[in-house]
Amino acid sequence: MGSNGKKKDNAAELNEHFNHLKIADATSDYATADYVIFGVPFDNTSSYRKGSRLAPNSIRVAYDNLESYEVNYGIDFGDCHIIDQGDLPAYEDVNYTLSEVEDVTRLIFNDKKIPVMLGGEHSITVGAIRNLKDIDMIIIDAHSDFRDSYFENKFNHACVTRRALEMLGPDRIISIGTRSTSKEEIEYEGYKKVRFVSANEVRSKGIKNIINEIKSRFDKNIYFSIDMDGIDPAYAPGVGTPEPYGLSANDVRETINAFADKIIGFDIVEITPLYDNGNTSMLAAKFIQDFIASRENILKSREK
Ligand code: MN
Ligand code: MN
Repeated sequence: MGSNGKKKDNAAELNEHFNHLKIADATSDYATADYVIFGVPFDNTSSYRKGSRLAPNSIRVAYDNLESYEVNYGIDFGDCHIIDQGDLPAYEDVNYTLSEVEDVTRLIFNDKKIPVMLGGEHSITVGAIRNLKDIDMIIIDAHSDFRDSYFENKFNHACVTRRALEMLGPDRIISIGTRSTSKEEIEYEGYKKVRFVSANEVRSKGIKNIINEIKSRFDKNIYFSIDMDGIDPAYAPGVGTPEPYGLSANDVRETINAFADKIIGFDIVEITPLYDNGNTSMLAAKFIQDFIASRENILKSREK
């Protein structure tokens, strides 16, 4: 009870003081949002370094450091329509997590909005693309993720590209940055149905030539999945399964820029803040800005 015997709404007053952590530029409501950010704090199938369940908030904290005006694209995020829904609960079970991701992304896709999913580990991508047909997919990853199952689990994070191939069909997936594949994966006949662009190939041909190749093959909407270990550990040390000799941060940025207007779903996965010096979450936050700002910039130039 407050003073004078009048009942005071302390809960409402407290709420005015506290803020739930969200991406700083996510100021839209759902009805008007074009981009729907949410976190999936799941890392239960991670085989080496766990901790990606902590990444969504780590990315949000890093994002706070960035300007709300993106000078490279001339985009003010205050003019963009972004919402941050917060995180799904941290479930133990991969099957249940995937069905939750499938449900929430279905709602978002049905409303013609773009899900921006913050992992969590790579397995969660499968839940999102269960809703999609007749699309192309770009994956950034050090690993082919092409095992049929791993630790007796078909939805382990080591099986993502294999599951995607089953859902999307041949010649629909390009995975960039590959430098870790088992003999079993490379000998599977389906391996040729995905275009794996090795990190070595990116280095020798240059990312622009790889982008031109993708443009000549792809003509549909694109789901874009960034496993942060695709980038060299020098730029992105805080990942679950680091692999030396990777992509540069700019390789990934240029690829995002080149396809931003065709992207209908976007995720960033496999960051482990426990092993980070801060740079990995920072880079992830910047990739979100690069995606939204380059897409908005393309849409804006079309209006003219
Ligand atoms: Mn992966
Ligand atoms: Mn990987």
